Amino acid sequence: MMRFTSLLEAAELAKSLATDWRFAYSSERYDVKGLLTLAQTSDSEDPIDEDCYYVVSASGAIGYCDYNNDIDWLFISDSSVETDLPSTYKLFSKGNFCSKCGNSIMPSNKFCGNCGNAL
Ligand SMILES: [Zn+2]
Repeated sequence: MMRFTSLLEAAELAKSLATDWRFAYSSERYDVKGLLTLAQTSDSEDPIDEDCYYVVSASGAIGYCDYNNDIDWLFISDSSVETDLPSTYKLFSKGNFCSKCGNSIMPSNKFCGNCGNAL
C-alpha cells in the first residue's frame, strides 16, 4: 500500500484502480471527476496533520490513517470488499522504503531520493 500526504495524490492513484466510490459514512457516491473535485477541496480547506496520511488499497479504496496507523476507510470503491480492507497500516519492511513518503530506497541510501528524508 502506498501512502500519501494529500487526498488528491491518493485520488490520482485510486482513479487508475477504480471508477466509482461510495463514501463510508453516507450514501454519497463519487465518480472520478467527483472524487478529484472533493479531494482538491478537502486538501485546501482541511489539510491533514503531518503525522497522518492517506492510503490506497489495491482495489482503489481510499483510507485515512492517523498516528496509531489505524485506517479509517473513507472511500470504498465498487470493486472493494470491505472485509478485505486492513484496519491498520502495516509498514513495508523497514529499510526498503522511506518512512516518510513510502518511496522505495536502497539500503545504502542516506537520504530518500523523493522527499529528502534522512534515513
Ligand atoms: Zn521519502
